[in-house]
Amino acid sequence: MVTAIVGAGTPEATWQEWPALHTFPALELAGCTRALLVAPHPDDEVLGCGGLLRLLHQRGVRTEIVAVTDGGASHPDSPTVRPEELAVLRRTESRRALARLGLGDVPVRRLGCADGAVAEAVVTARLADLLGETTASTWCLATWRGDGHPDHEAVGRATTRACAQTGARLLEYPIWTWHWAAPGDPRVPWDRARAVSLDAATRAAKLAAVDCFDSQIRPLSAHPADQVVLDGATLRRLTRDFEVVLG
Ligand SMILES: [Zn+2]
Repeated sequence: MVTAIVGAGTPEATWQEWPALHTFPALELAGCTRALLVAPHPDDEVLGCGGLLRLLHQRGVRTEIVAVTDGGASHPDSPTVRPEELAVLRRTESRRALARLGLGDVPVRRLGCADGAVAEAVVTARLADLLGETTASTWCLATWRGDGHPDHEAVGRATTRACAQTGARLLEYPIWTWHWAAPGDPRVPWDRARAVSLDAATRAAKLAAVDCFDSQIRPLSAHPADQVVLDGATLRRLTRDFEVVLG
């Protein structure tokens, strides 16, 4: 399923008024010994479940990040920045953001896939290799297969297959779902939703981390092709004091 991401999306205030959003069962963190977070683009790792990764890291869980693309295609018609320059910029932003989350020492493996054309079979093979033969105490966090963005869905499908091959536990995080879906939307498997509550320090660290993504949250220039990718409404949906994963 790929849904067009258009318009302003569902306002955060509408989500907050939905009682079910506040009663998802809590994700039980005990039992996780290793966590591998798969990010289609530099910023998904922080926006989707940066808080969760910080909490796991603080518990002594071995954490790793797999960066599938470098995000060079976020401003295809920019007169200011070429895709190669953007890729360098976005890798730097991600490193700074992870440091602000207290995850500066977490290894980041870069697969170098093309932004906008993720090769699923390659991602599956690399993930299966990284995971090795394992058990459900190894968690693999990836964008949800139904998230509505082609790269996010490809990464979700590739990770699902890698987990099935290796025995790792799959947890999927929605990003654009919060934009196109509405409370109770039947296209979303809400019965799988688990909440991760972020304490004040973790939420503050996440907000500080998100602020590092200059190329996405601030215009590159006044030119129409240099507009922000993540506007205020989008950021509000992704910086709550809890995160949601589909378990
Ligand atoms: Zn993304």
